[in-house]
Amino acid sequence: MNWNRIIRVLAGAAALVGVASMPVAAQVAPPAAPGIPSNPSPIGDTSAIAREAQGWLADLVRINTTNPPGNEQMAAMYIAGILNKEGIKPEILEVTPGRSAVVARLRSAVMADPSKALLLVAHMDVVGVDKSKWTVDPFGALMKDGYLYGRGAIDDKGMLAANLAAFIALKRANVRLNRDVIFLATADEEQGGDASIKILIAKHWDKFAAGFALNEGGEVLLKNGKVQYVAVQASEKVPVNVAVIARGTSGHASRPTKDNAVVHLASAIVKIGGYSAPVHFTTIARRYFEQLAAIEDDEIGKWMRSLDASDRGEHAQKVVSDANPLWNSMMRDTIAPTMLSAGVRANVIPGEARAILNIRLLPGDTVNMLLADLTKLVNDPQIRFEIQPDAGLAAPPSSLESDFYAAIIRVAEREFSNAPVLPFQSTGATDSAQLRLHNVQAYGLLPFPLTDEDFRRMHGDDERIPLASFNKGVDLLARVLAEFAVAR
Ligand SMILES: [Zn+2]
Repeated sequence: MNWNRIIRVLAGAAALVGVASMPVAAQVAPPAAPGIPSNPSPIGDTSAIAREAQGWLADLVRINTTNPPGNEQMAAMYIAGILNKEGIKPEILEVTPGRSAVVARLRSAVMADPSKALLLVAHMDVVGVDKSKWTVDPFGALMKDGYLYGRGAIDDKGMLAANLAAFIALKRANVRLNRDVIFLATADEEQGGDASIKILIAKHWDKFAAGFALNEGGEVLLKNGKVQYVAVQASEKVPVNVAVIARGTSGHASRPTKDNAVVHLASAIVKIGGYSAPVHFTTIARRYFEQLAAIEDDEIGKWMRSLDASDRGEHAQKVVSDANPLWNSMMRDTIAPTMLSAGVRANVIPGEARAILNIRLLPGDTVNMLLADLTKLVNDPQIRFEIQPDAGLAAPPSSLESDFYAAIIRVAEREFSNAPVLPFQSTGATDSAQLRLHNVQAYGLLPFPLTDEDFRRMHGDDERIPLASFNKGVDLLARVLAEFAVAR
């Protein structure tokens, strides 16, 4: 049992009791006593630059970078303009004609040591919107009731603007760096197509080669006005799409046959939908549950501590995975049927019916092993599986022992009243997998304190970011830079 951790959690809880009656905004960004900053940082007070960065965020939201087609060029030019004004020379890196990334560097020495460099990365593209479901203009950047509304406010233009602010704050502070700090804005993250970071790395790696990176993918969870925990993404599941194809005899629908492809496909999907892949724990998932157990309520915390127990482990795994789809997905490969297609006429039995399964593999698992299990489960010679060519690549996890991970923990604990900082294996994919494949210790830290309700709007309707959380995120990133990249 880790007593240090328990003491930290208790101390955090005690500190939070005192602020329980304050308004949320005040708890997110506690006002410093006049003249005495609560936690001095070599980069100084970031509240002015955070306000400035709210304007950059609003401008970036108004530049519609819905992917496809992306149109990141306008956003790239806008960011380059801001960097130029600060006397930082940006470089626009063309990935495909008309789609570019932006890179800029603060140097620590004449000769750069890429293995020490720290990369701040965020993507400029956003997912599409269903305008009819939004109550505000998704590209209007309306500020209302303490929120900024718009597609990308959280994912990922919020982090893009906050990275830019922290990077510029570091430049303005005119401090001595112990490593190069590199700002990178990428294109085509949401589609992972031919303008994505994979291609960017292949073409321009020398422009932003780094040993460490900070990206989206983690979370600072806010509940009842206080930060519950900070999750730092150090690994991610691997997406693979698989087509399920049923074949049968086509013919006139007035004379139904037993080998109808639609019926066979439907029956296969029902079986797959009810299937749970075997549980196994990666190092990161195990650490996540161990630490989360300490702050969850007694009942679920008890089961989280029993996940590995030989006698009641299996029951514990069921209770925990039933309690939360995220937890379920952290402990096993998952399969979500997402698309169905068959038929051309109401009165024609089609010869083929297809479905797409979106599979998320635990790092280390292979899709072929999973498909062997599914083939046995479906047990139908009319059904076959076809792995689609757009699969993600499995990357090694980032180390939980690196200096950078330790620096993130120190800063987050200090800034969020000793809220626990957990390593996180995200179920979704980010650009970090590609960086990890190039030996970068990449961590995901979406630095804004957000509620579950805020998170649900990511990729959804009425996406928004609380402005107080945005400011806090800018400050947190600046403090991480101060801790890790400023020479003492
Ligand atoms: Zn994103």
